[in-house]
Amino acid sequence: MNEQTTIDRTQREYSAAAKKALGRSPQLYINGEWVDSSGGETIDVEDPSSGKVVSKIVEASDKDVDRAVAAARTAFDDGRWRNMPPVARQKIMNRLADLIEEHADELAELEAIDVGKPKGMAGAIDVPGAAAHIRFCAGWAGKINGETISPYTMPGDMMFAYTLKEPVGVCAQIVPWNFPLLMACLKIAPALAAGCTTILKPAEQTSLTALRLADLIAEAGIPAGVVNIITGYGHTAGDRMVKHPDVDKVAFTGSTEIGKLINRNVTDTLKHITLELGGKSPVVVMPDVNVAETAPGVSQAIFFNSGQVCVAGSRLYAHKSVFDEVVEGMANTADFWAPRASLDPDAHMGPLVSKEQHERVMGYIDAGKRDGASVLMGGDGPGGDGYYVNPTILTDVNPQMSVVREEIFGPVVVAQRFEDLDEVVKDANDTQYGLAAGVWTKDASAAHRIASKLQAGTVWVNCHAMIDTAIPFGGYKESGVGREQGREGIEAYLETKSVIMKL
Ligand code: ADP
Repeated sequence: MNEQTTIDRTQREYSAAAKKALGRSPQLYINGEWVDSSGGETIDVEDPSSGKVVSKIVEASDKDVDRAVAAARTAFDDGRWRNMPPVARQKIMNRLADLIEEHADELAELEAIDVGKPKGMAGAIDVPGAAAHIRFCAGWAGKINGETISPYTMPGDMMFAYTLKEPVGVCAQIVPWNFPLLMACLKIAPALAAGCTTILKPAEQTSLTALRLADLIAEAGIPAGVVNIITGYGHTAGDRMVKHPDVDKVAFTGSTEIGKLINRNVTDTLKHITLELGGKSPVVVMPDVNVAETAPGVSQAIFFNSGQVCVAGSRLYAHKSVFDEVVEGMANTADFWAPRASLDPDAHMGPLVSKEQHERVMGYIDAGKRDGASVLMGGDGPGGDGYYVNPTILTDVNPQMSVVREEIFGPVVVAQRFEDLDEVVKDANDTQYGLAAGVWTKDASAAHRIASKLQAGTVWVNCHAMIDTAIPFGGYKESGVGREQGREGIEAYLETKSVIMKL
């Protein structure tokens, strides 16, 4: 019997710490305090493993947003954070990273309850990743410097010129629901290192860990008003943050559609902006690969986090000499990736985040079937109350199909054969997106040649979705604007001021 049919997808009992977090009254973290919303509206929090409402969060009003922006503005303008000695800021940030690690188990569980991702995955990836972003950027706090510059057209003995690196100001940071804590920390860390203040809005579907993060931010000693965390909808609270005249910079991670809207919305006030958007990342499998290693690797590239990953390897191009073996090897991972409740210790893949996302992904699968794609694996859900979709492999696809062109954001890969290397690079680049790509081969020269030709912000060789806080991350084409992480990620929160003096 297929193992899938015997899985009990009943969600497990929550821990006492998780119950406490779910039971707190809906509030916002503004100016170092927990405050009620001016409007009193709330949003239900659902556990996607069961479909049950388990908590409520605030739906921030315009007034709430204005209050948070005012707090961040004052905290920036009076210099309570940016003028603090970098060694002190670094220490506080490292304390925050320590606190995240100390609360790792609770944070992983809350992420599992909120997003539907397996607690084991959240504990192995999301929580340590969040702490690493804070720690890496803490180190930068004391290493941000301008330079002295010798003028080119002016006499050097008469002129003295230097640059100052200054924090860009008040930031509006908006994050999505696939890696809530990780994204929250990825956003606040460089802002804090640079000396900025911020208003962070997690996604309305997944705000639990950001709210717990606010407790830890207070405990770590980050001064009031430096980080403000508000919950609410994107088209209301998010929109107001983006358009607010007292905000200097917008940092957004989410869909390309909303990214474009936000890009238009910052135009009137010409804010600084970084956008991390969608993808439809190609994975090229060369004829020389060891299939036994590659098949599980390319499966993980798409099925990790139920495919709800901006860099998911959702378009597989395998050389015709290994295609059948590779897809068969992927199909053999079906039991490993079989969706389970997020608190099931055996889970490697959970449900999708929401009913809406479930409908969207099933809609794409159905469209693929209608367009003539063959279902090699999955193509359905196991049923039950949660928002589960089975890991799915579609073959017999062509470049016109929506399943090949559009970002599905679910555990669905379209597998295609290729013969010619130039042809496959052309096909891989035939997309509006340019976030990431993968190449699997033992031929190091081929790997570098292909990497240079792929139009993507990140190219992985013999691995996928290996993201590190020290390595720049961002998109080509419609996958984004600017870079996060690494030195460039810090630069994105800095202004450069040139000072030129006649001696
Ligand atoms: P997804 O498609 O992954 O749900 P979205 O791009 O819709 O991603 O949302 C990502 C984040 O952007 C969420 O925090 C959401 O609330 C916010 N958001 C959505 N619409 C807007 C908007 N018009 N302005 C600002 N933020 C928005």
